[in-house]
Amino acid sequence: MKEEVAPAAIQKEELAKLTDFLATSTGVKADNIVFDAAHKTFVLDGDVLITETDARERMAAGQAPQGEHWRGNYLVSNTYVTNIDYFIESSVSSAWRTATRQGIANWNAVNGTRLFLRETTTRSQADVIVNTSYADANWIAQAYLPYSNGRPGNTVTINTKYNSLDASRKQFAMTHEMGHIHGLLHTNQTQGVFIPGTPSSDPNSVMNASVLAWQGFTAGDILATQIIYPE
Ligand SMILES: [Zn+2]
Repeated sequence: MKEEVAPAAIQKEELAKLTDFLATSTGVKADNIVFDAAHKTFVLDGDVLITETDARERMAAGQAPQGEHWRGNYLVSNTYVTNIDYFIESSVSSAWRTATRQGIANWNAVNGTRLFLRETTTRSQADVIVNTSYADANWIAQAYLPYSNGRPGNTVTINTKYNSLDASRKQFAMTHEMGHIHGLLHTNQTQGVFIPGTPSSDPNSVMNASVLAWQGFTAGDILATQIIYPE
């Protein structure tokens, strides 16, 4: 599914070190972390993207004493979190465009958080680009995590292979990817790593790795958002 390009620019040993670091710091099993050499990007659990550069910066930061500061590297800074601007590329179908707008509205309906998303029609002002790609693979959409400089993840890519997915699952998928954009990871795989105190089991969470029909956020989703981005 991913291109099997030999990682020429990155030594095998270095790659293994970065993979181990990402596994330890995110709770994702190393077996589920793939290096996409063509894009110099790590893919975690099929849909979470971290660039090689960002992984190196995270590893460097992780060697400092750990605590709130280290945790902050993964979150969106105050400068951006109150107005994360999404731009939807023209290639995005109207059904996925609707799902994107529903995702924005879903997150904005969470009370007790400073997190706020917007749609912009000015591409150059966007924090996040929503685009499309085709991959004969089992991921419906992919998104980047926040960067070590406090910016939100900058891209959500929709796999057009799943254009026939029902509207409810499209809404779930887009809301889920937006969660990655502002720093949430999969609840069923990484609970407690970034947000101690959230439920260890939350099968209907929007941040579960499997796309479900949209039924609204769980109490755990809301709590997690309020903890990482309090008002
Ligand atoms: Zn995901």
